[in-house]
Amino acid sequence: MQILRETQERLDFIPKWAVDYLAQALCLDGAQIQAVIDFYAFFYDSSRGKYRILFSDNVTDRMQGNTALLSRMLSKFSLTQGQVSGDGLVSIDTASCTGMCDQGPALLVNNYAITRLSSQRIDQICELIKSQTPLVEWPAEFFSVQDNIHRKDVLMTTEMANGQALKRAMELGPQGMLAEMKTSNFRGRGGAGFTTGVKWEACKNAPGQTRYVLCNADEGEPGTFKDRVLLTSFAERVFEGMTIAGYVIGASKGLVYLRAEYRFMLERLQAQLEARRKANLLGKDILGQQGFNFDIEIHMGAGAYVCGEETALIESLEGKPGRPRIRPPFPVTHGYLGQPTVVNNVETLAKVTLIAQNGGAWYKGLGTKLSTGTKLLSISGDCDKPGIYEYPFGVRISKVLEDCGARNTMAVQVGGAAGTCLARHEFGRKIAFEDVSTSGALMVFGSNRDMFEVARNFSHFFKHESCGFCTPCRVGTTLLCNILDKIAEGKGTGYEMNELSRLHQLLKTSSHCGLGQTAASPVFDTMQKFRPSYDRRLKQKDFEPAFDLDAALAPAREIMERDDADAHLENEL
Ligand code: SF4
Repeated sequence: MQILRETQERLDFIPKWAVDYLAQALCLDGAQIQAVIDFYAFFYDSSRGKYRILFSDNVTDRMQGNTALLSRMLSKFSLTQGQVSGDGLVSIDTASCTGMCDQGPALLVNNYAITRLSSQRIDQICELIKSQTPLVEWPAEFFSVQDNIHRKDVLMTTEMANGQALKRAMELGPQGMLAEMKTSNFRGRGGAGFTTGVKWEACKNAPGQTRYVLCNADEGEPGTFKDRVLLTSFAERVFEGMTIAGYVIGASKGLVYLRAEYRFMLERLQAQLEARRKANLLGKDILGQQGFNFDIEIHMGAGAYVCGEETALIESLEGKPGRPRIRPPFPVTHGYLGQPTVVNNVETLAKVTLIAQNGGAWYKGLGTKLSTGTKLLSISGDCDKPGIYEYPFGVRISKVLEDCGARNTMAVQVGGAAGTCLARHEFGRKIAFEDVSTSGALMVFGSNRDMFEVARNFSHFFKHESCGFCTPCRVGTTLLCNILDKIAEGKGTGYEMNELSRLHQLLKTSSHCGLGQTAASPVFDTMQKFRPSYDRRLKQKDFEPAFDLDAALAPAREIMERDDADAHLENEL
């Protein structure tokens, strides 16, 4: 993956000769390399232009007007979406959420993010492309990404020198630190909420030669960007949390899997790792303890949401298409390269430092009984102050809405596209594993929003991101989109509504991984809670086929030179 990324950065795409060369040099089959290129959205085997523009197309980008800006840029180059200009200069397309929802609309140019797009900024970008100005000479403010932290709690307010939490963990010893983790009842912040101490213990006790700590920084859930902020302003905590995890389980290697959309962070993060090596916080005999060796590498993803699933992430790290594995066995026993592996989320690892520093009992006193500690929320949508908010678990949705300046809110999508859609009467519910569980995204929708269109946007996202491994998800997500598009065209009936319910059940019960299992949830939730947004589109009484079979047979009739009445379907039936 990293070789392909670097090849593409040099050549703009990965040509066939490069695949052949790499296959020979790496003793791999060319088809294996091609399969990897084909799987990832950000790898290209033909030129996509010297400047590759991808507009972020999350529902919040749409709310901020990305569609008009996309059209503006397309017309300036006389292109259609996805087309490469005849002179090979530029291509313009859309991508899934780029993690900039608090400062959108956003786009990526050659994988570097530009935020706060406006008509004026689009015009400037077009001029820079036309004059073939190298990216390094573009105005620096285009690439400025702000943290937008509006509420801090223990993670963001606790002062901690680099190495301080690690020293404390080393004083406790691996077993003592593990005991603190278990006392804290700390649950992973990636969404599933598994107890981190129990996960570490299972990995520590698993048979195996080598152990690994993986940091999942592939936050691709639409509406989430908290890992972006943590890796911008609290990366030392994340690296230190990884080192503590390595110390506890006996690993000597850690890998950060960084989503491709955060390419702009790579050099800075690598410089921070280098500084930690120089300070003996990474490397050999860390802080003078003989035999405690641990180092961290950063691997870039290449634009696949499914790689946020831990086994898909491991496949991707191993240089393969990121398809979720069949579990069990779980990564704690058979993970990266088949060895015992701990996979933790960025926020989880950052918070480990707090537990090392202040103890498990202290941490357990924060939040609620079943959800200890705090949670970072990425808030976007219809509110005055989108950005990052850290709250103790148990905070009510209504309080969050008040703090972020949301008014006249009709709905809140908690946990991204795969999460839960809450209507006004549910705003008294709490953010906690025992009530509304979330990996951190919270999108606010005002009373003027169309929840059918929100669900349709999410459904197209899932269709785009399905890895295609299992039939229910591969076919189900496409059927879901087809039906929603048909309803949007005013051609839906009660039949389509029943089909949506049936698909929801099918995807939930027979998909291989969480992506497919939750793909129809936004549709199901909005059908239950915002039914009028569907009903007003059901203009047809009688079922109308979405597919015109007779029209599809036209080429066959032409080939056969037969266009008599009997060659038409309606006459055959
Ligand atoms: Fe892939 Fe979807 Fe199946 Fe998951 S549910 S393995 S994303 S096809």
